[in-house]
Amino acid sequence: MQSETDHEGAPQVVARQVKEKFGSLRFHAIQASERQRAMIRLARVLSLRICEGCGAPGTPRETGRHATLCDAHADARNRG
Ligand SMILES: [Zn+2]
Repeated sequence: MQSETDHEGAPQVVARQVKEKFGSLRFHAIQASERQRAMIRLARVLSLRICEGCGAPGTPRETGRHATLCDAHADARNRG
């Protein structure tokens, strides 16, 4: 996104809020171009496919709280 600002004349993205909700990334920004907003949507979609523990392929799970996890990290959570 910063490259879009630096080289393509897009506005400077300002994050108003960044958090996790139901296992996915929520990135609320002001002053983002359509292309930058598409990047944010892509990151959100990817956050539902990538384990938050290790970066391996994962799926959204409910293990006491919502999280996107690979099988190994889901097993570790279920064992407590
Ligand atoms: Zn993992």
